[in-house]
Amino acid sequence: MMYRLRQFLYGRYITYGSDLLSKVLIFTCLALAIANLFLRLVFVQLIEYALVVYFVYRLMSKNISKRQNENQKLLNFINKLKGKKEFAERKQKERQTHIYKTCPFCSVTLRLKRIKGEHNVICPRCKNSFKVTVKR
Ligand SMILES: [Zn+2]
Repeated sequence: MMYRLRQFLYGRYITYGSDLLSKVLIFTCLALAIANLFLRLVFVQLIEYALVVYFVYRLMSKNISKRQNENQKLLNFINKLKGKKEFAERKQKERQTHIYKTCPFCSVTLRLKRIKGEHNVICPRCKNSFKVTVKR
């Protein structure tokens, strides 16, 4: 019996341990289930079922690299959000001393010293120049 179970699970994603996407799926499902105790909405229940089906499908999948890619996409998304948050915090912290301007040619964000007046800025990436006016 144990041998058969082991043979069934061999090479499936479940044997690689749980990843973040699995945890997110199951906790989202739990949160929806708890919320739906009060809401009692059919479509929320359908979403729960879909999440459970996807959760089990991922665990039983033998396409390990594809499952790992899905998890990596989630990690990349979270890192992108963290990066945006850190940038916003830095921008807020330095708002007395620096301004941030977007290059009109290549769209890169430039960090410039806050010096009152009109300046000619040369973008370090695309080498184009544009005018920036700092009012205060
Ligand atoms: Zn540029």
